[in-house]
Amino acid sequence: MFLTLTAPSFGAVHSSTRPGAQPRPCTVNAPPGLCEHGRPRRCTEHHDVDDSQVGQALCPDCYDYEGQAVWQWHCPELWRRFTIRLRRLVAAHLSMSEKASRDLLRVQFAKVGEYQKRGAIHLHALVRLDGAPSDDDPFPSPAVDVPASWLAERCLEAASDIEVDAPPVDGSDGTRVLRFGRQVDARPVRRHSDDDGDVSPEMVSGYLAKYATKAAGDVAVDGTPNRHLKQLRETCLELCGRALLHEGFSSPYALLGKWADALGFRGHFASKSRRFSTTLGTLRDARRKYHRDREQLETHTDQASTDDPLDAAEHIVVLNEFRFVGQGWLTPGDAELARSAADAAREWKDARRAARQPHEKGKNHGQALLHR
Ligand SMILES: [Zn+2]
Ligand SMILES: [Zn+2]
Repeated sequence: MFLTLTAPSFGAVHSSTRPGAQPRPCTVNAPPGLCEHGRPRRCTEHHDVDDSQVGQALCPDCYDYEGQAVWQWHCPELWRRFTIRLRRLVAAHLSMSEKASRDLLRVQFAKVGEYQKRGAIHLHALVRLDGAPSDDDPFPSPAVDVPASWLAERCLEAASDIEVDAPPVDGSDGTRVLRFGRQVDARPVRRHSDDDGDVSPEMVSGYLAKYATKAAGDVAVDGTPNRHLKQLRETCLELCGRALLHEGFSSPYALLGKWADALGFRGHFASKSRRFSTTLGTLRDARRKYHRDREQLETHTDQASTDDPLDAAEHIVVLNEFRFVGQGWLTPGDAELARSAADAAREWKDARRAARQPHEKGKNHGQALLHR
């Protein structure tokens, strides 16, 4: 399944017609008249996709910036509950316990987060049913035959079932019940299909790659100052300040300010369940082998160069200009990807440390030294 989970509405924003769709006015379904701040509730203009108005609130005073910042902050928890709920529902619909169902099938995920123009996070996920893995076959088919539409229904059910109670930011705030938006989309992924609603594996990998590299920076840095995203960032900082004043560092929002550039989203932009595809360990081994091979090749080349001074001179690259171009990451998205990668590496290390038997410790340590 290719699944899209959206954020709910936090107020009306200017919108464009999707490319290829029937052109329609911006917010034609909104009620007529003016809001309490004297701004029109409805916009009948036609906006191009790259119109800087798109994604901006019709009335910034009506728009629930605090609600969006808090939702974004708890979005990773919504996703976590969704995965738990989906696994339970799949088992329940097969009239089995969750434990027993694991012998027949396993639900696997790979997901990416994407910012919309309004700065809200969307989650796109590939959801797959595998059988129970064995040494011979790490990715077997499930032992029960269920159609993709069945899994789609379970996804929609799980998405509408779950909610998260977000605690108040401070004494003047209330508890918010957070849910995914109503626009949940789940489509089968098929290699050959005549059905327009289905998507092909190539389309999905294209989407996921695009989303994985698209970040908050892309919607914020478009040449014109983006008032809406600026307001959202400032709201994150403000809520964090209020939370710290109220409860100090024990507040669940104590770190919200740190994630203001990510508009409050602290989750992994890309993640997968352990058995979705190749393991990080395998990738690491491949990387290690690549570096070892390259080092050997370079040692060999250096040897050749010192043998022949003329040849060596040819290998010297002269750099005659040094210029400071900046430090850190170009966009918050790049920083996010780096952070996700570092988190994944840390998880992998922790898992390996936990799995390692105490008596093997010394041996592995020796090997590590040898490699150096
Ligand atoms: Zn508009
Ligand atoms: Zn208003």
